[in-house]
Amino acid sequence: MSSFKSPLSLASSVDGSSSDRMGLSHHPSGEIHVIVGPMFAGKTTALLRRVKSEANNGRNVAIIKSSKDTRYAVDSVVTHDGTKFPCWALPDLLSFRQKFGDEAYAKLDVIGIDEAQFFGDLYDFCCEVADHDGKTVIVAGLDGDYLRRTFGSVLDIIPIADSITKLTARCELCGKRAFFTLRKTDETETELIGGSNVYMPVCRQHYVNGQAVMEAARNVLESHGKVQSDSHLEEVAVV
Ligand SMILES: [Zn+2]
Repeated sequence: MSSFKSPLSLASSVDGSSSDRMGLSHHPSGEIHVIVGPMFAGKTTALLRRVKSEANNGRNVAIIKSSKDTRYAVDSVVTHDGTKFPCWALPDLLSFRQKFGDEAYAKLDVIGIDEAQFFGDLYDFCCEVADHDGKTVIVAGLDGDYLRRTFGSVLDIIPIADSITKLTARCELCGKRAFFTLRKTDETETELIGGSNVYMPVCRQHYVNGQAVMEAARNVLESHGKVQSDSHLEEVAVV
């Protein structure tokens, strides 16, 4: 997946600040890149790969994840395959600057956001960071919940994004490309945090046959004791 720079980035600033009118400002152009997909599609892995690549190019990076997700260590982002990256676990995004420190924030080039569906202030934060502060934001999150409804504010930032990448997982039942996340349990709250014990990636056909699949999955779980979840990056489709 390529980090592509829009030719429009050479256009003059749209924030109307007077210092930009004479072209004297060297404010860098910000970027917003969005990575979406179902659970187990490798979104965190893709996010970390991009952030690490930026860090390897000498850019200052930071990663923010939701403090709601405490499945793994709180001070690091951990992919399903165990790769770790230090990060800030916060309840919201707009408090990041204050907590990170103004001076350190000013030096930041790239901010990665994981589990973005949990941040209600995602849109405002991305505008602030990319439009006004000229930084690159790389956002990873679920586009839909287990009922395939839009999840949090992730889709709200599509109109302000430079690029959108939708990743797929592998259907746990037939092995085809999986676009959706099926909940195996009976709980109905939208934000139920869990791993392969609660969720599985499924193709369209198996999502639609959800109830029957859930029964089948429970039987498989009981008979095999373990369901293998493929957490690796399977396919990349840029929309
Ligand atoms: Zn399937």
